[in-house]
Amino acid sequence: MNVPLADLKAQYQTIKPEIDAAIQNVIENTQFILGKAVADFEQAFAQAHQTKHCIAVGSGTDALHAALWALGIGKGDAVVTTPFTFIATVEAISLTGAQPLFVDIEPKTYTMDPNKLEELMKTPQGKSVRAILPIHLYGQPAAMDEIQMIASKYNLYIIEDAAQSHLAKFGGKFVGNFGAAACFSFYPGKNLGAYGEAGGIITNDDALAKKMRQLRDHGQSEKYKHEFWGHNYRMDGIQGAVLGVKLKYLNQWTSKRREIAAKYKQQFDGIPNLVVPFESPKAFHVYHQFVLRTNKRSAFQQYLTEKGIANALHYPIPIHFQEAYLHLGYKPGDFPVSEACAEECISIPAHPEMTEDQIEYVIENVRNFIR
Ligand SMILES: *Cc1c(COP(=O)(O)O)cnc(C)c1O
Repeated sequence: MNVPLADLKAQYQTIKPEIDAAIQNVIENTQFILGKAVADFEQAFAQAHQTKHCIAVGSGTDALHAALWALGIGKGDAVVTTPFTFIATVEAISLTGAQPLFVDIEPKTYTMDPNKLEELMKTPQGKSVRAILPIHLYGQPAAMDEIQMIASKYNLYIIEDAAQSHLAKFGGKFVGNFGAAACFSFYPGKNLGAYGEAGGIITNDDALAKKMRQLRDHGQSEKYKHEFWGHNYRMDGIQGAVLGVKLKYLNQWTSKRREIAAKYKQQFDGIPNLVVPFESPKAFHVYHQFVLRTNKRSAFQQYLTEKGIANALHYPIPIHFQEAYLHLGYKPGDFPVSEACAEECISIPAHPEMTEDQIEYVIENVRNFIR
C-alpha cells in the first residue's frame, strides 16, 4: 500500500465543482490580481480567527517580511526566533536588515522556550531586541501566555509565525490574537493551501493593517499615489478564489487531522524509543504535521519508505548550522534541543484524505517496526 504525506489530488476530487466554478469566475471577471475573490477571502479568514483584518499576500515569506517591515524593524534591531524552523522565518528578519537571534525550543512542544527567551533578554544582546517571532510549529501554538508576559516586560512586538497553524488556539484564543500580527502560508501543502504561492497576515491593529495593505501594493494610498515605497506582495485572484472555497472545509479537515492524531497517539503511546507529539493542555493543536521522535530514525525512515509510507524530516538541519547563517557565529551545542530534534524527528502521514485502511496500515507498520 502507498500512503502519501498529503493527497491534494484526492482533496480536489471532493470539492472539484466548487473550485472549478470559482476559478472560472475569476477568469471571466479578469480580476487576476486582488479583486473581489481575494477581498472576500480576507474577510472570511480574519473572521475565522476572530481578528479584525486580513491582508492577503503572495506567500508566507512575504507575510513575515511585510509584517516586520510595517512595524519599522530594520538595521540595528534584533528579532528573536528559534533555529528549529523553515528558513523563511529567519530570512524575513534578514530581509529587513535586522539581526536574527536564536533561543532554543522546549523539548515537549518543539516551540520557543520562554525561559531561554527571558535569559537572552537579560544579556547585553537583549538590548537591541525589538520583536519576538515565535513559530507555532507543526500546528501547535508556542507558549503565548509566557511569551506575552516577557514581551510586555521588555516592550517588544510579537509577530506569530502561524504558517503551519491555521485555526490553532492557545488558552481558547485563536492564533493571531497574541501580538501585533500573525503570518500564514497558503503553500499548497499547508493545512489551508492555495493552487500556487499565497500567504496572509491577520491583525487587530487598524493602523498596522492599513500600513501593510499599502506596503503590499507599492505604498499606494490610491492609484499612482505612493505615500512611501513598498513592494509587490499582492495575492492572485485565482488563489483568493481557491482559498475562499477551501476555507469552508477547514474546520472539518482540522477535526479529521486531530482524529487521526488521537488514534495514532493512543496506539503508539508507551512504545519505547518513540516519542509521540505532546499537546499542551492550553493548546488546540491542528497537526499540520504528525511528528514522531526516535533515536533510531534512519532505520525507521528506511523501513517506512520500504513499506510505501511517505515520510519527511522537518527539519534535518537547524538554521544555525545552515551555510546561509554561519555568519551569525553560533556553534554546535548552542541549542541542544533543536539540534537533537533535527536528528530525531520524522513526520508521518496524517492528512484528512487518508482512508481508514491507510490509517490502519500506518499504525500496524509503525508498531511492527518498534517490535
Ligand atoms: C511554509 C512556512 C513558511 C513560508 O511560507 P511560504 O508560503 O512557503 O513562503 C514560513 N514559516 C514556516 C514555519 C513555514 O512552515
